[in-house]
Amino acid sequence: MHTADPGNGAPLVREVYADATLGVVALAHDSSAPYQVSGADDTGAGDTGAGAARGAAAAQPATGTAPDLLGRTVPVNISRQPDGSYQLTDLTRPVTITTYDATGRDYNEFSGRLPDGSLPVGSPDPDFPASTGTSGATDAHLDAAAVYGFHHDRLGRDGLDGKGGTITSVVNVSNRGKPFPNAAGDGQKMLYGNGNARFLPFSAALDVAGHEMTHGVIQHTANLAGDGQSGAMNEGIADYFGNAIEVTARGTSMDDPAAPLMGENLCRTGTPQDCANRRLDDHRTTVDDYLGAGPDLDNGGAHLNSTIFSGALWDIRRTLDPLTADRLVYRALAEYLTPLDDFVDGRNAVLAAGRALKLSGAQLRKVAAAFDAHGIKAGWQSRLGTDTRPLLPGTSAPVGPAAGAGHWVMGNTDPNGKGATALYTGSTTTTATPTRLSPDDGRIHGWAATDGKSAVWLAIGPDTTGTWGTEVLTRPLSGGPVRSVFHSFDQSPGSVQVSGGDIAFTVTDNDTGRTRVRLSHDGAPPVELPLPEGHDLASLAFKDGLLGWIESWTADGATVQAPTAFSTATAKVTAQYPVSTPNGTDLPYLASPLLAGGRLLWLAAPADRTRPTALRSGALDGSGVRDLLSTDSPYTPADMELTATDQAVTFTHRSAQPNSGWSNAALPKLYQLPVSGGTPVRVSCNRGSQFHAAADQGTRVAWLDATAGRNDLVVRDRPAGSC
Ligand SMILES: [Zn+2]
Repeated sequence: MHTADPGNGAPLVREVYADATLGVVALAHDSSAPYQVSGADDTGAGDTGAGAARGAAAAQPATGTAPDLLGRTVPVNISRQPDGSYQLTDLTRPVTITTYDATGRDYNEFSGRLPDGSLPVGSPDPDFPASTGTSGATDAHLDAAAVYGFHHDRLGRDGLDGKGGTITSVVNVSNRGKPFPNAAGDGQKMLYGNGNARFLPFSAALDVAGHEMTHGVIQHTANLAGDGQSGAMNEGIADYFGNAIEVTARGTSMDDPAAPLMGENLCRTGTPQDCANRRLDDHRTTVDDYLGAGPDLDNGGAHLNSTIFSGALWDIRRTLDPLTADRLVYRALAEYLTPLDDFVDGRNAVLAAGRALKLSGAQLRKVAAAFDAHGIKAGWQSRLGTDTRPLLPGTSAPVGPAAGAGHWVMGNTDPNGKGATALYTGSTTTTATPTRLSPDDGRIHGWAATDGKSAVWLAIGPDTTGTWGTEVLTRPLSGGPVRSVFHSFDQSPGSVQVSGGDIAFTVTDNDTGRTRVRLSHDGAPPVELPLPEGHDLASLAFKDGLLGWIESWTADGATVQAPTAFSTATAKVTAQYPVSTPNGTDLPYLASPLLAGGRLLWLAAPADRTRPTALRSGALDGSGVRDLLSTDSPYTPADMELTATDQAVTFTHRSAQPNSGWSNAALPKLYQLPVSGGTPVRVSCNRGSQFHAAADQGTRVAWLDATAGRNDLVVRDRPAGSC
């Protein structure tokens, strides 16, 4: 789930922010970039242009002028090439700083290479032309030099990687064929988009450039993960140094109202306050303001929660002297922080760095007071007023739990975030320590189901001969041998289900894409169930000898999708509710079939997913459908998540997001209603994201809850009602 693997240090591509279209602060996009961080002499410039930049053997340092984004002519450090031309390569420092122009081409966040055809910005004479200014190249070149100077002079650091690696800036990039009103970095290269009607090219802001380059420093030091609290510290430290670099380079007072603003100089019009996408003096605190975002929003709120931490750091910079604060935060980053640290670990790291730097008692008290003022102190989560019982705190589960008869099962990595995901089980009614069900064989175990007596799950990875495949495994929850149900190296099993000792799952043929159901009765080898020629299916439910799925086929120029109930005893369909959609039209989305309370339940979203989803139920004898929640309901389901016992059905619902940005109230919340129908009520009044619910028995539900700044597996026995 972490966007950086702390084990191998896979680098990230990060962007400073931006939901430029909404005009409100930010979502961001972080993606794993599986390129290798290379040595100091080959820093990802790729095959294009690097030779020209490094043709340094013959290139000579020179000075020239270039117009900047505001049209001013400014001096620049450049190089004179062997052919007598000049390029934006600064050879006056211990590291080489080169600025490229991607001429509007795409950057590929996964390749780690420059956009194809990127060349160092060149000029026939030392006075660079107007295009050097309008592309943002001059500003990017000066930004890189300013950041290098800050690191070198103030922190004693030799470049982003600390080893004198080349610093490369690329202006004029697009992303997936679209304009890129943003900036990004991958540890060594800075990528700047061109802006748009609202924004200047993104090299216009030194704090934004400093932010991106600080991500490079973080990647080469603490390597903080990109999500949750560690992600918010990653963003917060990038903002801290971005602003520290800018105010230092510009000689801005810490008392200047613009000093704590991030990105305030990017806008073509308007005030700095309106333009800034974050401000480090917003006074947000953990207890009052932490946005309990799940993994589907901003990597667990990495940007949306960052000012809680960066605000504390900025307060330290205001109350200590700036130089001491910069060295303190840098020392914490370089020597004390580790990839999965949370806010309290971050506080402890900064204080430890302060002791190492021999700060006085009075100075250390100021540091502690700054964290206190932002609610960053041990136990802050206990003040959030949660109404749930924790089962497994701080999980890294990529998939939610399953539950039944007082037990849960779920895949989870070990507490250090290292190693493959293993399958664990525990009680939903006691606090007994969870136990591991899966063998320790290096494979990824998860995607589980349980009927409360045994678990069935998928194991993905190489077998003993090193061949990759997917295996369906089962084991009693009370222990005993692990048994293989199905193992394939060219087909994909999924949707595993277990009921009363029988196991059902889907198998998708990787060549044809067709999906079939296999059923294992009483431990016998699984057999494929019959499906009419030309039919396919998706999703699977299994309960008491009945299977449920969404079947599809084409007939008379239309695609038919049909929630279907199938009896394993008679091997016959007992109920089917077809929805016909003319070919060439977008299909409605029918999902999450369930068998509960003697009915077949499913979610039906219109093809236009912007309109509400209905919760439908059909009689098992095929005698008719009724809506448990129609599309007119004020509680329409979200996220296509549905879980139920015979008594109650539970789903997520999202309130409209306010125009002013994200709030806890707009995050997904669980609602429950009787399977027989009724008005949904809140399952829990926890304020953050509630997701991946698993109905256990009666009204009891377990789920992942992000309220406390982690993804906790929690449970409630009955719904809270109204909140
Ligand atoms: Zn960032």
